[in-house]
Amino acid sequence: MKSLDEYLRDAEQAHGHLCAGQVLGVRLAMFGLVRLGIDDPHGKDRKRLVTFVEIDRCATDAVAVVTGCRLGKRALKFRDWGKIAATFVDVKSGKAVRVAAKESSKALAREMHPGAEDKNRQQMLAYREMRDEDLFTSQWVKVELPPEEFPGYKGERVVCKVCGEGINFRREVRRDGQVLCRACAGERYYEPLE
Ligand SMILES: [Zn+2]
Ligand SMILES: [Zn+2]
Repeated sequence: MKSLDEYLRDAEQAHGHLCAGQVLGVRLAMFGLVRLGIDDPHGKDRKRLVTFVEIDRCATDAVAVVTGCRLGKRALKFRDWGKIAATFVDVKSGKAVRVAAKESSKALAREMHPGAEDKNRQQMLAYREMRDEDLFTSQWVKVELPPEEFPGYKGERVVCKVCGEGINFRREVRRDGQVLCRACAGERYYEPLE
């Protein structure tokens, strides 16, 4: 595994700036991988890892940089729960660890660097130095991953009866004997204007 500073350089490049979220995300991912015993996520352990992230903020980009898990490879899963937390699944051993940032780390950052010019600066400094146990909670968990959740899965492709669009990875809804996409089944996040 690379050092914290090396990952922070990579994260800054990928994310566009260095911020407290990058420091937190890099440390969160490094902590999770150490607990799992995965030390070469971009090399020999490349296919061993699936990561669930629970927020779409700065830290998420950093988690993707350290783990090498990407949405386009199906190895990064997003659950929109608004929490700075991630679960790292070792698909080889079946072990999984969920790591969450402690809410108290913000107050601790204030104590550690009361004179910092702003909150981001303060947290950036403090999150580098803080002990793992002050930054995170973690727990071993079990994650059920059906075959279609794995990066290499190739399944049958079906077509929505209503809109005619193709659907991969068993994401269809079957209702009254018909195959529907999630949008046509009522889960639309958009309203067609025409
Ligand atoms: Zn940021
Ligand atoms: Zn449809």
